[in-house]
Amino acid sequence: MTERTESDSRRLLRRLRDTLAEPGAGQERLDRIVRLIASSMGTEVCSVYLFRDDETLELCATEGLKRESVHKTRMKLGEGLVGRVAKTSSPVNTANAPAEKGFRYMPETGEEIYSSFLGVPIQRLGEKLGVLVVQSKEARSYSDDEIYALEVVAMVVAEMSELGAFIGEGDALAAPHKHAVMFRGGTGQEGAAEGRVWLHEPRVVIINPVGDDPVKEMERLNKAVADLRLSVDAMITTSDNGDAEQNQILEAYRMFANSRGWMRRMEEDIARGLSAEAAVEKEQSQARARLETVPDPYLRDRLHDLDDLSNRLLRILTGQGQDTGAEMPDNPILVARNIGPAELLDYGRKLKGVVLEEGSVGSHAAVVARALAIPLVIHAEKITTEALNGDHILVDGDQGMVHLRPDETVARHFREKIAMQAAAQSRYASLRDQPATDKAGTTIALHMNAGLMADLPSLAGSGAEGVGLFRTELQFLIRSHVPKRGELAALYARVMEAAHGKRVVFRTLDIGSDKVLPYMKRVEEPNPAMGWRAIRVGLDKPGVMRMQLQALIRAAAGRPLTVMFPFVAEMSEFTEARTMLIDEIENERSLGHKLPSILEVGAMLETPSLAFAPDAFFEMADFISIGGNDLKQFFFAADRENERVRKRYDMLNASFVTFLEKIVARCDRTGTPLSFCGEDAGRPVEALCLAAIGFRMLSMRPASIGPVKHLIRRVDLGALKAVMERARASGADNLRPAVMDWLSRQDV
Ligand code: PEP
Ligand code: MG
Repeated sequence: MTERTESDSRRLLRRLRDTLAEPGAGQERLDRIVRLIASSMGTEVCSVYLFRDDETLELCATEGLKRESVHKTRMKLGEGLVGRVAKTSSPVNTANAPAEKGFRYMPETGEEIYSSFLGVPIQRLGEKLGVLVVQSKEARSYSDDEIYALEVVAMVVAEMSELGAFIGEGDALAAPHKHAVMFRGGTGQEGAAEGRVWLHEPRVVIINPVGDDPVKEMERLNKAVADLRLSVDAMITTSDNGDAEQNQILEAYRMFANSRGWMRRMEEDIARGLSAEAAVEKEQSQARARLETVPDPYLRDRLHDLDDLSNRLLRILTGQGQDTGAEMPDNPILVARNIGPAELLDYGRKLKGVVLEEGSVGSHAAVVARALAIPLVIHAEKITTEALNGDHILVDGDQGMVHLRPDETVARHFREKIAMQAAAQSRYASLRDQPATDKAGTTIALHMNAGLMADLPSLAGSGAEGVGLFRTELQFLIRSHVPKRGELAALYARVMEAAHGKRVVFRTLDIGSDKVLPYMKRVEEPNPAMGWRAIRVGLDKPGVMRMQLQALIRAAAGRPLTVMFPFVAEMSEFTEARTMLIDEIENERSLGHKLPSILEVGAMLETPSLAFAPDAFFEMADFISIGGNDLKQFFFAADRENERVRKRYDMLNASFVTFLEKIVARCDRTGTPLSFCGEDAGRPVEALCLAAIGFRMLSMRPASIGPVKHLIRRVDLGALKAVMERARASGADNLRPAVMDWLSRQDV
């Protein structure tokens, strides 16, 4: 590119920026900038198309096309050349537009006389805002230089739009971040909350996209990049813990921070008139657009790394960071692309809700949200680009929906829902000290699932009789290093103390599958859920399991201890693990340490195979707990993490109920205490059916105890059992319709 065009480009950007300061409405400003661009680029036409909704582009200003078509000409995403630019987020450059595939003739614009066409996306950090087009009569294709120049202009137009420069009449000129938006995502944790947005990483606001002095902007960029390199190097030295995977990520960071290509593009952007931060954001926007189209997971990860680095760089350049000095609003609802479990735990119970763009039901953040009992919506696409700190927001964890800046009718409706839930909660609270006894006098023991210290306060509040499942892996997941034995012993002791003598069933580490420890080498497995996980890891590499068992014995120090081994598929695995525990007890005895007063050793039944184990297994186990989440997954061959099939099979499927009854019968014969601790135990109707077929202990999330108890107390479990048996005898594939029909006739 020649010096002349660089200074042309800078002059144009400055004149565009000056329109920001000039008085006038958004429309006038748009009209002025299309004139400026056309004259500066030497083209006969310049047009700006903006989105009026997610799917439709509208011609908002033009120099060269017929004025009457402004705000009339519209196209769908992907339609015509303009729609193609928007859809693919990449330029379309052609000497003969009418001959181009997909060209759509718009008679009202009078564009048939223009042959050449160059369109570039107007986008900001992956958010599509519109399309900028230049056209000429002469049949010529535009040079790379001209494409680049137009992209730089589009970047400034995007920033101007973000700053509210084009606000006017009609949907296409609506003010950004002002109107109500609804997001349809997925449920991470049920519950409803109303509050104000608190962005985990507030968006950086670029006040000045245009640089007056390229030399100065270059200096700013170089200094910021140097700072960034230093901070990446520091991260690498401080975290050099021999963990290959983490170091690999950091090395990738370093690679980008030193990448000449990245730097060169930003330097060129600055030479053409962008400010340093606008140059960073332009490259980031283009990388994000690419992210959407790259299927290769490795490349996607690297683009994510680049995105993170660009964010850091933007924060260094603008001085806007997580500590922007903004105050957390009352009733904060955390909005983030994604968040780690430790960070979420740091925010703690002060959050009223969490909304994530990514995440999954089984993610660690979801586990923490559940422990904190705060509603969580996942997969709320693009919410971080739309929401601003302090925005009014409604989170519906039950439906997996979010209303951002809702109108008053929606908000009123939502408040009624929250009030109803609160009323139900207080009704349940009044049952807290009552037993879960049905009308005929059968009592079901209701316990809670836990995994963090943060869960323990719920023990008293929920009325749970104990902790039926303490998932010990959570303590491992929220750390960046393997916890030490002393640390774990202290933690388990605190859990036992907080339980005030109530029974806590400690399940040994269940890692693998969806639960991958950040500091352990990841083993690539084709089917991790059926792979090297839980007790399989514990038996093959006993170091960590032994350490955990020692920590548990020491924590008990004279108190009762209950240990449960997860994912036992055959008797020998249980025998081996149990022997390991007994060995450790002997070892502790020989060291003169205080031993547990009572020791109970149980197994989780999570694979169908264990239901058919020899009688000796049922006799040896002090108790058995059914991990229904896994058992169902393997019974129906339906991945519990796969959204497509996750909800396809029902616990009340007749075959599954029959299978559960067989397990109940086997445990009855050997007198082995049996419980159920999967998610289904916390769903009132399912819990009722489990109790009806003979389960006398259920373990569930604390919030479910009230509703389950309420329902049990209002029915006769024997009558329900008869209903289920009749439905099955009549050939029903699923018992739910019969159960629901019967329930509708009860006083519940
Ligand atoms: C289960 O599988 O039902 C269970 C309780 O264990 P987790 O959900 O931790 O796998
Ligand atoms: Mg399980």
